[in-house]
This record gives sequence, structure tokens and C-alpha cells, in this order.
Amino acid sequence: MIRELTCIVCPKGCQLKVELEGKKVLSVSGNTCKRGVVYAEAECTAPMRTLTTTAPVRGGGVVPVKTDKTVPKELLFECMEIVNKALVEPDAKLGDIVVENILDTGANVVTTRNVKI
Ligand code: SF4
Repeated sequence: MIRELTCIVCPKGCQLKVELEGKKVLSVSGNTCKRGVVYAEAECTAPMRTLTTTAPVRGGGVVPVKTDKTVPKELLFECMEIVNKALVEPDAKLGDIVVENILDTGANVVTTRNVKI
């Protein structure tokens, strides 16, 4: 099976063709550099994503948050459920940790702006 991907490692956005046997990567083409091969292999075997969402603020409203590292794509919905229940303090600042080491991924969920603007 051939899977087509756009490499998102740099703005060049190379169009990759990944030859797969089940989940095993047999070959990658279309990449300009080796990072494309690493990306394609990870994307086809254990895709990772940065979670970007909002968290509720104590007393009302929401604040934008994101993970400070990528997390396994299959855990995104479970992470969202945890973030939706976390209450951010009204005096929280940009970069404050909302959820530490979410689901033991090693990633923290942090605010991407001050709550009060
Ligand atoms: S393969 Fe290399 S050059 Fe192409 S988009 Fe990926 S990182 Fe950029």
C-alpha cells in the first residue's frame, strides 16, 4: 500500500510517498532531506500531535492552552477530557502549567496567554 503525506517538519512541505506493508514502512520517497523519512515513519507507526484547545477558568470564561510537547494522537480525546475538567486560576499567566505530565506522556498542558488581558 502507498500512503501519501505532506511533510510538516519545515515550510517546504514535501509530498511524501510511503510504501507500507501493514504498519511497516518499506520505503519513503519525495523527501528532500532525511527529516522527511523520520517524519513519515513516525506518522505511519506512532503519530504524535500538539494538543491545542481551551481550558475553563475558575469563575467563568476560558483560556487557550496547548501541550508543551507532542502527545500520541490516539490520546488526544482523553487529554481533552482532562483539560475540560481542569480549572485555571483567574490570575494565571502565559506558560503556567494547567495539567502536569498529562496521561504520563511527559507533556505539560500550559496556558498560551495570561487569563487577564
Ligand atoms: S522532507 Fe525535509 S525539506 Fe521536505 S518538508 Fe520535510 S523537513 Fe522540509
